[in-house]
Amino acid sequence: MSAQPEPVSIPPHQPRLLVMKFGGTLMGSSRAIRHSASLVKRSTVLGTLVVVVVSAMTGVTNGLLKLADAAEAGDIAFANDEIAIMRNRHFTAAQELGAAPDSETVREIREMHETLRQAVYGVYLLRELTPRSRDLIVSFGERLSAPLMALALAQDGLKSHHLTGGQAGILTDSHFGNAKPLPTTYTRVKDRLDGLLGAGMTPVVAGFMGETVKGAISTLGRGGTDFTATIVGAALHADEVWTWKDVDGFMSADPRSVPRARTIVQLSYGEVMELAYFGAKVLHPLAVTPLQDHGIPLRVKSAADPDFAGTLVVADAVTLPGQSVKAVTAIKGVSIITVSGAGILGVPEVVADLFNTLARENITLLMVSQSSSMSNVSLAVQSASAERTVAALRTPLAGRQLQVDIQEGVAVLAIVGAGMRGTKGVAARLFGALATEDINILMISQGSSELNISVAIEEKDVDSATREVHGAFGLDGDVPA
Ligand code: ADP
Ligand code: ASP
Ligand code: MG
Repeated sequence: MSAQPEPVSIPPHQPRLLVMKFGGTLMGSSRAIRHSASLVKRSTVLGTLVVVVVSAMTGVTNGLLKLADAAEAGDIAFANDEIAIMRNRHFTAAQELGAAPDSETVREIREMHETLRQAVYGVYLLRELTPRSRDLIVSFGERLSAPLMALALAQDGLKSHHLTGGQAGILTDSHFGNAKPLPTTYTRVKDRLDGLLGAGMTPVVAGFMGETVKGAISTLGRGGTDFTATIVGAALHADEVWTWKDVDGFMSADPRSVPRARTIVQLSYGEVMELAYFGAKVLHPLAVTPLQDHGIPLRVKSAADPDFAGTLVVADAVTLPGQSVKAVTAIKGVSIITVSGAGILGVPEVVADLFNTLARENITLLMVSQSSSMSNVSLAVQSASAERTVAALRTPLAGRQLQVDIQEGVAVLAIVGAGMRGTKGVAARLFGALATEDINILMISQGSSELNISVAIEEKDVDSATREVHGAFGLDGDVPA
């Protein structure tokens, strides 16, 4: 028998393949990008294959949206100035990451800014900014940061190759601004990235964006780079997806409004979806959906403390005894639209028409309540879509004796935790905490899954309400929960 080569010793639990996602703050400067690249290297030196997914440099996405609006309004000078500032920022970072002035990366960055400038000029000439052209413009943020990460990885001695979302195989529907991946995405992504991984490359994918069947660039909704990472993770059957953050994991509340929030050790996919939907900005609301079918774990990890476990998101997350609520979250900038009048009484198709119309218009409802006498229906929506909602309701309401009222300046506060299921007294504790702060409740809803209870309150009260509710459920503290 010939001698067998010594098996390579792989430390226990060493993942074979990880997808790592870096958000805007962690891509914000050459220094931040270098640190992010070092987090990739920590795993690759142990033999783990890593696919990197990146966001735009911090502030760039908002900047692109603003300059696109300015071009539509006719202020091309402002738009061009902003593009010039952005170009300098990307050039400086590239240079600091070792790119020579005549390098391929610098040429690529220059060309991308030129294309961006032309697209913005088109918007200015037409004075028209469609969701499709907005997506093209806003995608440049991620397209420009991906080559920067590739440079940093190269400086760390890793062979890498950067791709746009479309080049990585992400094919979406045509809901520009909020597109969803088509089922064929998964095999396409696998085909494209497996080849690179097999050739010893570390792929760097521009997050947030994909393309439609016709080749138009689409985006996956704000915060969509998390979604890109989980799409890629599911496509490649990665061992885990790690979203690196500037916080210590998924916390029991937004640490900016609740300083005593603590890291949650484990969350289920369902809990994460509820939290993200109700405003926990830390993850895109659909981010865990691609992982669910394959049971791929997601970790929310601290870039400042990479040895800390952060939050593990899995199907069967542990709930500690007595831990009915794991987190409190809130969405600001909400409006309540109330449709009322005798025209609703005993006419169920009115309500059906309202919901059909909203579904057709792709309007997200945060809460719905209908009074038992059926003389009114209240809908909580993001204030940004309130006008569109009222306009959409005009048709189903026409000719019926109904009136529409809007209340602005509202927030939705939600408590989330699988431990609420079957536990008595949770709602009483929530209402008690709000009463202590003398806060008036405008609407209440509990999902049938009993994973959350949400209340609409006045926006001015939401920060103090969040702190009070957080304390009332025993979440304040310094140790992870
Ligand atoms: P990234 O750019 O990495 O995607 P985001 O800014 O989208 O990061 O998300 C991280 C931010 O989310 C944190 O800085 C924090 O202020 C905010 N946040 C809101 N709710 C939570 C929560 N429950 N846990 C952790 N962070 C939260
Ligand atoms: N850059 C995009 C945004 O700001 C996507 C992301 O960061 O996840 O929404
Ligand atoms: Mg984000």
